[in-house]
Amino acid sequence: LVERMRGYGETIFAEMSRLAAETGSINLGQGFPDTDGPRSLLDAAAEHIRAGVNQYPPGPGRAELRTAVAEDRAARYGLSYDPDGEVYITVGATAGIAASVLALAGPGDEVVLFEPMYDSYAAVISLAGAVRRPVPLRPGADGRFTFDPGELRAAVGPRTRLIIVNTPHNPTGTVLTRAELETVAALCREHDLVAITDEVYEHLVYDGAEHVPLAALPGMRDRTVSVSSVGKTFSVTAWKTGWVTGPRPLVRAVQTVNQFLTFSANGALQLAIAEAIRGEQDWIRAQRDALQAKRDRLSAGLADAGFGVLRPQGTYFVMADVRPLGYTDGVQLARALPVEAGVACVPAQVLYDDVDEGRHLVRFAYCKRDEVLDEAVRRLTGAF
Ligand code: PMP
Ligand code: GLN
Repeated sequence: LVERMRGYGETIFAEMSRLAAETGSINLGQGFPDTDGPRSLLDAAAEHIRAGVNQYPPGPGRAELRTAVAEDRAARYGLSYDPDGEVYITVGATAGIAASVLALAGPGDEVVLFEPMYDSYAAVISLAGAVRRPVPLRPGADGRFTFDPGELRAAVGPRTRLIIVNTPHNPTGTVLTRAELETVAALCREHDLVAITDEVYEHLVYDGAEHVPLAALPGMRDRTVSVSSVGKTFSVTAWKTGWVTGPRPLVRAVQTVNQFLTFSANGALQLAIAEAIRGEQDWIRAQRDALQAKRDRLSAGLADAGFGVLRPQGTYFVMADVRPLGYTDGVQLARALPVEAGVACVPAQVLYDDVDEGRHLVRFAYCKRDEVLDEAVRRLTGAF
């Protein structure tokens, strides 16, 4: 293994899912739903495969999906992208993020991002030979995680090239407000930075919270590469289909890299997804409402079981503080829980450079059937 990838073992999501399987635990670790996406989407994919859509699609993706993505971003956020050159389909958000970072940051460049950070960011920054500058998100008295603008400003220096912004944020569930994003945007404009956004949970926001794409802020469209994907929106995490939208020169840079990583993504799925983006908006809203109720259901159960619950505004994750249970280390609890209680979660600590910031935090996924959540709570209650 090359030097720059030393220290990266198995991902925490794979490790905890394996532990969950070995122990027969309810897996509230890795984030994936236990019900399928809309029937029309599944049927359409099967039909397109049967109808012979089985060879390479164009590298940038099927025009049908590029157009649907562009129309959706225009209708939803007032952001205008040319499907031909400003929208690019990738193998999930994971490939979109990797290609974007590899295209835009090189050896010695610094990348500012918030921690806890989704695990692939750190790894691809390392692959690029770049250096990460994490800024902590910390919970306030209301349990909502946010950043200190002074700490963010201090992280930006002469070598900063990129900033990565994930909202709604995994694992904290924070939905950054327009005002918080304006702080980020002001720094980007002032220091001439490019932003990469990860918006895979864009539809999963609760209590009337609004997802604001950084690209929609003044002066940001032409310096932002926005990444999203279909896995969370339509409960098809295995489909690994995502997209990058941005100004032509940045998308061209991403394409230059990605054509050698994956070349193209699955064509039949792209056609089915294009149809669902147009036809299944009601399903997306119903799913959001269902997940909001599941958030409340699991949060209440975790609180009853003795965790300190940090209420999320988006995603399908909830962070929990293990200290009220008498633990100081979330890794210790996350390793013990499948064995002792038959429930798996993810220790958030591994998503921080500054381990002390997240030592006591674990993440639970609530994108599961109610009876599964209830059984998990039953197992957790009285386990300590
Ligand atoms: N970013 C975040 C914040 C995620 O939680 C995930 C996991 N779905 C991804 C990116 C990867 O998305 P995909 O499965 O589309 O590659
Ligand atoms: N995005 C999912 C999560 O945060 C996991 C994806 C993965 O396993 N790499 O749980």
